[in-house]
This record gives sequence, C-alpha cells and structure tokens, in this order.
Amino acid sequence: MTDTTDHRIRKIVIVGGGTAGWMTAAAMAKLLGRDFADITLVESDDIGIVGVGEATIPQIGIYNRMLGLDEDEFVRKTQGSFKLGIQFVDWGRKGHTYFHPFGPFGVDMEGVSFHAYWQRLHLAGDPHRLEDYSLQAVAAAENRFMRAIDAGRSPLSRIAYAFHFDAGLYARFLRGFAEERGVVRREGKIVDVEQRAEDGFIQAVKLESGERIEGELFIDCSGFRGLLIEQTLKTGYEDWTRWLPCDRAAAVPCESVPTFTPYTRSTARDAGWQWRIPLQHRTGNGYVYSSDHISDDQAAETLLANLDGKPLADPRFLRFVTGRRKQAWVKNVVAIGLSSGFIEPLESTSIHLIQSGVAKLMQMFPDKRFEPADRERFNRMTQVETEQVRDFIILHYHLTERDDTPFWDRCRTMDVPDSLKEKYRLFEGYGRIFRENDELFNDTSWMAVMVGQGLKARGYDPVADVLSLDETRARLAEIRRVMRTSADYMPLQTEFIRNNCAA
Ligand code: FAD
Repeated sequence: MTDTTDHRIRKIVIVGGGTAGWMTAAAMAKLLGRDFADITLVESDDIGIVGVGEATIPQIGIYNRMLGLDEDEFVRKTQGSFKLGIQFVDWGRKGHTYFHPFGPFGVDMEGVSFHAYWQRLHLAGDPHRLEDYSLQAVAAAENRFMRAIDAGRSPLSRIAYAFHFDAGLYARFLRGFAEERGVVRREGKIVDVEQRAEDGFIQAVKLESGERIEGELFIDCSGFRGLLIEQTLKTGYEDWTRWLPCDRAAAVPCESVPTFTPYTRSTARDAGWQWRIPLQHRTGNGYVYSSDHISDDQAAETLLANLDGKPLADPRFLRFVTGRRKQAWVKNVVAIGLSSGFIEPLESTSIHLIQSGVAKLMQMFPDKRFEPADRERFNRMTQVETEQVRDFIILHYHLTERDDTPFWDRCRTMDVPDSLKEKYRLFEGYGRIFRENDELFNDTSWMAVMVGQGLKARGYDPVADVLSLDETRARLAEIRRVMRTSADYMPLQTEFIRNNCAA
C-alpha cells in the first residue's frame, strides 16, 4: 500500500548566527523557496560569533553563484579583496618562501602531466621554480589581479581566485539575503533543549526570555560548543592535536596598506604561524600557536611586533581543539560549521566545509522519517572529506627541515597518518601525486606544498620521455614566457577594485 502520510519537514531551526548559521540559512532559503518550510535562526548577541574566518578558497564562487550574488556588490559590501593563493614564509626552512596558487601549473602536453616535465627538468638541474608556470603566482608576486577574460587559449581565460572578506560584514550580508527570503531571526540565549522522550530527537529549544521554538529538523551552527550535537546529544569529539598541535590564536586587525596583496601570507613563527589577510579597510592578522610552547602574552607580543600598520584594537584570543565531531548528523540534528569540528585555518578550509555541509544536506534532505542510511552516508562523506583536508594540513607542519624551536622539532619528527605516508612514498619515487576523486585539494595544491616544503623525488614519471630534453626545455620556456606576458597584461589589484568594487 502506498504511504500517503505527509512526512515533509515544515519547521527548520538553525541554532547560531555566525558564518555557518547565515550561510546555511541563505542557502536553504534560496534552494527550498519561501513556502517549503518555516526557517527560524536563533542567535545570541551576548555570546557573539568567532568572526575571524576571512580567507576562502575558489569553491566559494560556487556558493555565491548558487545564491545568484552579484560579485562586485559582494566584494563592496564585505570590504573584500581577491585571493590568488597563499604565500608561505619560513615554513620549509627559515629564509625560504613558496607560493601555493589556485589554478594549475603549466599545461599537460602529449597526455602527460605538466608536473612530470617540470620534475624531469628539475632533476636535470633546471633552476626554474614551479611558481614561474602559474599565472596566479606570477601575477600575485606583483600584486596584480583581474577576472578571466575571453582570450582563447591564453591563461587569461582561466584565472582562479577566491576572496578575503570581513567575516562580520559577510554574515550581515547573508542575513539580509536570508531575511528577504523569509528566514525569521530570533535573538536570545538558548538555555534549555527539549528532547522527545521515546527517541531523544530534539523537539524545541527554549530561550532565556521563556520563548519556546519548536522544530523538526535542527541545524547546529552554535560554534565550538556544539550546543545540540555535543552538549545535548553527547556525540563525542576526535582530537587531532597530536598532528595539528596549535590550539590558540591571537587576532588583531591593523591599518591597511595602499597597495594590498592579492594573496594571504602565512609566516611560520617559533610556536605556530601568523596570517596576514588584506582587506580594503584593514588588514586581518593572527598568530595561531600551540599553548604548550608559548604563552598568550608572548604570542600577542610577537603578533604586534609583526604588523604592516598600526593595530586597530587589542589582540583577541581564541581557543580551540583541532579535530572533528565523531558524527555530524545525529537523530534530527545536523552540525555545520565549528560545531562539527575545526581542522585549523592554515588553508582557509572552514568556510568551504560549511558550504560543503550544506550541499550534502540538501543532497540528502530528510523527511520526518529520517532514514538512517542517509544519515550514515552523510557522516561517512563528512569524515572522509575532513580527513583528506587534515592530511593536507599536516603535510605543511611535518615536511619541514626546521629544528630551531621545540615546536618545529616536534612537528618535524611526529608520526603522521598512513594515508599521508602513502602520498609521500608515491611522490618520492617518480614525483607522482595521487589523490582520491572527490578530494578537495587538487594536484596543483599537493605539488605546490610538497615541493615548497622540500620533499624530493628520486625520479620522474618515465612517460615524460615522450618529449626530448631539448624539446621539454623549449616548451617550458614558452610556457614561462606566456605566463609572464599574461601577468603583465593584468592591472594592480587595487586598481581593479577601485574600478569595479571599491567599498
Ligand atoms: P560562531 O561564529 O562561533 O557562531 C556561533 C553562533 O551560535 C553565534 O551566533 C552564537 O551567538 C550562537 N550561539 C551559541 N550558543 C548559543 C546559545 N546558547 N543560544 C543562542 N545562540 C547561541 N575559516 C575560513 O574559512 N577561513 C579563515 O581564514 C579562517 N580563519 C580562522 C581563524 C581562527 C583563529 C579560527 C578560530 C577560525 C577561523 N576560520 C576560518 C573558521 C571560521 O571562523 C568559522 O568556520 C566560521 O566563523 C563559522 O563559525 P560558526 O558560525 O560555526 O561559529
């Protein structure tokens, strides 16, 4: 017999109004439309938001396009800037710098990856760096930026970029978007959570004011505390501190500089690393560190001594434990954002993981029956995704020659997951990069960071011999020339912003 019961979810409650809460609210309002379900978002001004997620990766473009945002308006309203990649300073060894760009290095030729040809020349003593073959890296070094244009086979047709933005303004921007589409915001502190007696499903949350907000599906975007997923449902947390030892950050904005860079800078420090994220109205800075190796005061002192301009506030301290919530979806609660875990901000992946969590939830959107198979699949996909990102981040810490401080010596000598060891072994043989199909970071990223951190391959992919050494040299010289002339065509980022999206 056909089941005619109406199982549709009609009340969705989002707990939390940080980046995760508003990104989820905006996406659901857009994708589900106004009449599908009531969406209520609860946030507490007293508790506030983390508000330091300011750098992104190119996948955010997919989210913005899904919402139908006008990119110039988005950059203007968030005081944003453009990001072509990340510059790593002093990571592999002191005094050494490398760039992890978005977009590919060079072009594949004769069905063989560009990386193989580069590796061959590199082993033959050729001095050119990988960066010379990336338009994004060459342009970033001169503070240039523009969006792709229709230029045939030129790399100017394919410029990969992401954004830096003010996280507070971004949340406000998305809030406007979501509220215009029917999302109802409730301000107040949740002091009690009601569960159904028979199965522990969440039924309602209660605010300090006494107001009771009922729901059928709850999205926990309450940040590190995991109000529903952990404090109520006791899901458990897998701690990754043994591989990702930083557990605190001191953050401070400073005055911006006139020609700001179209990239994030990450500088290794004695007990962690410092970010520099240039926005239109200020530069965001923070020292991510291990509290086992340095005190809060020392971290703040180092941070303040290494700013491009005058600080605009006192340093703010944040605490975290790197790792992941054992299950992101339990009963009728789905954790998105920091409530589902935190890898650490080195490769700006948190906002992407929010977007990816929302996408997976929409793909497996439940009804009131909450099919366990969907939930299990969601949890499995979330686990695999975060572990893959985790390995990529560990690589940065582990592959270092630095032994000049106890922190770096510990990172250099730590044992790493087997999944990462396999990647090292494959690279060390013939310079091969292997990644799973859906893995977030692509071959360019792995290549950039493995080579940048100093991993050496003994050989190169034998099929790169399809071209003679002289032919390989000539073709790679041509690629460098094209990257150079293409970059020369691009305006300074500051000029591009002034003409298109100045706040
Ligand atoms: P939060 O911002 O903590 O929001 C939690 C919300 O829940 C708030 O609205 C709060 O009011 C509400 N809430 C909590 N408890 C209650 C309650 N009892 N009642 C009512 N409301 C409640 N990500 C990137 O992608 N790029 C970066 O460059 C980056 N840098 C980072 C640097 C640092 C040092 C840190 C710690 C994080 C960084 N992140 C970055 C991560 C990014 O900040 C987060 O992913 C993002 O801010 C999302 O946070 P959230 O919305 O999950 O949590």
